[in-house]
Amino acid sequence: TSYQSVALIVGVTGIVGSSLAEILPLPDTPGGPWKVYGLARRPRPAWNENHPIHYIQCDVSNKDETIAKLSPLTDITHIFYVSWMGTEECKVNAVMFQNILDAAIPNAPNLKHICLQTGIKHYFGLFETDTKSEPHDSPFTEDLPRLNQPNFYHNLEDILYEETSKSGLTWSVHRPALIFGVSPCSMMNIVSTLSVYATICKHEKTPLVYPGTKASWNCYADAVDADLIAEHQIWTAVEPNAKNQVFNCNNGDVFKWKHIWKTLAEQFGLEMVGYEEGKEQLSLQEMMKDKGPVWDEIVKENKLVPTKLENIAAFWFADIAFMSENLLSSMNKNKEHGFVGFRNSQKSFVSCIDKMKDYKIIP
Ligand code: NAD
Repeated sequence: TSYQSVALIVGVTGIVGSSLAEILPLPDTPGGPWKVYGLARRPRPAWNENHPIHYIQCDVSNKDETIAKLSPLTDITHIFYVSWMGTEECKVNAVMFQNILDAAIPNAPNLKHICLQTGIKHYFGLFETDTKSEPHDSPFTEDLPRLNQPNFYHNLEDILYEETSKSGLTWSVHRPALIFGVSPCSMMNIVSTLSVYATICKHEKTPLVYPGTKASWNCYADAVDADLIAEHQIWTAVEPNAKNQVFNCNNGDVFKWKHIWKTLAEQFGLEMVGYEEGKEQLSLQEMMKDKGPVWDEIVKENKLVPTKLENIAAFWFADIAFMSENLLSSMNKNKEHGFVGFRNSQKSFVSCIDKMKDYKIIP
């Protein structure tokens, strides 16, 4: 086959990386046919093996290893950077991205475009930060100035701007809302986290208790389907009008956790307990801290893809989601530039659960 485009997905086992690995090789994907390299830190997991990609195991925080493994890939035309170190520390996240660009730019003469995924923390700050400056008021728009506090997203953007201006490449920055996706190897997957919580409730014959705050139960929230982010990134990769721009990315609708909670209970056949007046927030992380062996038992009993509780579920992340409010982002700039993709958030949530069941990630 002769390929029109060649992608390097950095973080191919992650929540968006795995969607890109599924969508890019399809025959009708814009810009295609695509040849796809997919890179991640661990050996290729079995659930990821169906995607027709060239898998590269590499620790991109290691410069020598990154250069050794990427310099032979001279045919790359597009980079999709959908990775982070799993810590918000600025330095190490910056090094990872810089290593990728240092390895790819001098060796891939046909390189054209780089997609960088950051997120809406751009507008309200990191989760772990001492320097709390006032967050921006939502709905967030792409033109809001940077907050005056350290954020690895600033480091990544600065590297992107510097390297693309030096080499004449085009770029796009993607700022997704909370992501609904399928990967069991993501460090922040809200749907797998809640599905695992529900599965454990079912196993222990307890109701599905909402642990969050009153505000998070009642407010409008937004999210984005991982497949839609992949479509969004592919759109910027091929659409001239989308070059050298920052874009938010959400499903284009709003939902309330109280409605999603009902859906979650239905999906797992559970009785649910919603937010109850006067109740303090419970920590899911605390409630689930001894459930590792219970999850191991569930995996064994149901012959699931082997996963560890601490990898498939990020209860700390759910705790943050369930104390958050007012984090909506605007999709106006996207529409003005011609991106009109959307998802129904309720359906997106259910389809991620269905897919995890199909992949035998959950029972
Ligand atoms: P993820 O945790 O789902 O996946 C990370 C990927 O990067 C994995 O494939 C992992 O193997 C790879 N990786 C990590 N360290 C590596 C290393 N040293 N060498 C090679 N590969 C390595 O990632 P994500 O959640 O898509 O996060 C990407 C960005 O998106 C982050 O900046 C994050 O803050 C942002 N974001 C995430 C969400 C969400 O809900 N998950 C929402 C909005 C924004």
